Amino acid sequence: MARKLENHSLGFTSQILSTEKNHPDVHGAMNTPIYRSAAFEFPNSVAIAKAFQNQEEVASHTYSRITNPTVEALENKIKAISQGENVMLFSSGMAAISNTFMAICYAGCNIVTSPHLFGNTFALFQFTLASFGVEVRFVNTDHLDEIEAAIDENTVAFFCEVMTNPHLEIADLTQIKPMLARHNVPLIVDTTVIPWGAFEAFRWGVDIEVVSTTKYVSGGATSLGGAIVDYGTFDWSHNKRLAQVSNTAQFSPFMFKIKREIARNFGACMDPDSAYAQILGLETLQLRYERMSASAYELAQFLESLPEVVKATYPKLESFPYKALSDQFFNGNPGAMLTFSLKSREACFALMDRLQLIRRATNLFDNRTLIIHPESTIYGTFTEEMKQVMGIDPTLIRLSVGLEEVADLKADIAQALK
Ligand SMILES: *Cc1c(COP(=O)(O)O)cnc(C)c1O
Repeated sequence: MARKLENHSLGFTSQILSTEKNHPDVHGAMNTPIYRSAAFEFPNSVAIAKAFQNQEEVASHTYSRITNPTVEALENKIKAISQGENVMLFSSGMAAISNTFMAICYAGCNIVTSPHLFGNTFALFQFTLASFGVEVRFVNTDHLDEIEAAIDENTVAFFCEVMTNPHLEIADLTQIKPMLARHNVPLIVDTTVIPWGAFEAFRWGVDIEVVSTTKYVSGGATSLGGAIVDYGTFDWSHNKRLAQVSNTAQFSPFMFKIKREIARNFGACMDPDSAYAQILGLETLQLRYERMSASAYELAQFLESLPEVVKATYPKLESFPYKALSDQFFNGNPGAMLTFSLKSREACFALMDRLQLIRRATNLFDNRTLIIHPESTIYGTFTEEMKQVMGIDPTLIRLSVGLEEVADLKADIAQALK
């Protein structure tokens, strides 16, 4: 599946470029072909029966809602760089997150998490899952005792984002993980804002990683996608829903449940065209990430120096409250997201309206630099009370720094602030 060198382990990008599909291409195509086919044919009835009963040596494909060769090629590459035991791709980041919780939740269970979450994840927990009898317990993840106090025998997961958006908070996983292990609670982390290579989830005890591949992986907002990476580290016999699966599963009970039941029944599969775009995106991930991170740091320093800017927040700034954790977790490259605040909401709007190069758009980690005012957009339909719970500040602006020359970005901000 992957090319190897004797006595030498391949680096991040070499692994991406050399990990292939499970079946060699008949024409020797260098790029992974787009297998845009709903179904796959078999030579005889025994072969198709074996495929349906999972009795093959190397699994073949039957129907693209279940597996597809192009999608599988991307899964293999992500498996190689994440060192996960099992990887599954979905139609979006939200599909990866919702399938994860659909697999482990039951009526009467609870999820312990921070209220500082991506908006749709917050709504999934608070509204969608709540109507099926799932309770969400919001805690301040800076306080270990508060997290521990919220856990009981029906806690199915502690969930957090590796760095929250737009608050840029980092939970100290080195403290949280041992506490969770004592209570048999899995650590599920959304690592969308710090991709593989910069944050090595397995090193910090993450059991299940969820990612919106729409962001860094897609290679410039080409397509939607989501991934679940199962590190195979959690004993699921403690979960009331998965205890039974644990006895019969041929691999991790969590991923077994997802692959053989949940994902099939919800049908939020990644399509082969998106998988193709995201394979190309993954090939340049490290290059883009390093450039974006370097530009974000330079821009954050620039913003911090401007008299109009009340506060700039970026993990490498000395003023950043979680700097030590960022240095520890993110290999010196804490990504392309930064925030800054101006004196008022009006000042934020005025700045945004005068920008010429930077785009007013939602999304993160496009090749273009994007700016958004979270309070009036992403959180615009939330009540004032919920905005308070979620800590949404009307003077805050979020930037996702792209690949433009950083001098051009500085010039655009400088002229817009005039
Ligand atoms: C964008 C995002 C998601 C959702 O991903 P989609 O691909 O848009 O469904 C989830 N979590 C975080 C942190 C995100 O930024």
